[in-house]
Amino acid sequence: MLPLPAAEQVSRRSHALRMNAAPEAIPLDPPSQAKGEENRTPFQGKGVAPQARGDAVTHEVLRLADIGFDAPRALLARHGLELVSVADDAPIPGCFWGEPEAGVIASTVYARADTPVHSLLHEACHLLVADPARRASIHTNASDSLEEEDATCYLQIVLADALPGFGRARALADMDAWGYSFRLGCARAWFEHDAEDARAFLKARGLL
Ligand SMILES: [Zn+2]
Repeated sequence: MLPLPAAEQVSRRSHALRMNAAPEAIPLDPPSQAKGEENRTPFQGKGVAPQARGDAVTHEVLRLADIGFDAPRALLARHGLELVSVADDAPIPGCFWGEPEAGVIASTVYARADTPVHSLLHEACHLLVADPARRASIHTNASDSLEEEDATCYLQIVLADALPGFGRARALADMDAWGYSFRLGCARAWFEHDAEDARAFLKARGLL
């Protein structure tokens, strides 16, 4: 545990943060933007290490079209979730971040062929880490706290290994490319050295 204030125990995709901002204000398709723009969040002056951002991998993230819906659908089903595929160019129900990111409503995750695999897992993991009593009422914004946000990021990395053609290393690289911000500079550093709280949260919920 690093001796930083709790406010800096933050990974990037804070729905809690976004509660104060209209979703429309959020960059909708980070890979199409200049690096740096996508990281323009209040975290930049806190946990995020801007000097490391130049090292971020600039590659195309893996999409559902690349691995198909079958394996993700089976993985989600094993965790009590349903994956619904959405037609190309159709709106994605329950989508908080804007298409092509995945959407969530109750126990259902919605995604298109152009939805990044990391996004599908991220939103699915939000449903898994949420208080089970709350899941049925979840619509669009699944996150309840920064604690859940971190646990979600951790679990999505773990579950990536269950998807052939994806896996942990690609998940970490895609998270960096997409603009997830971690105070240690990259997803792998956070996952390996700064995620004790997330691990403890998931173990307490029986998810690890
Ligand atoms: Zn999130």
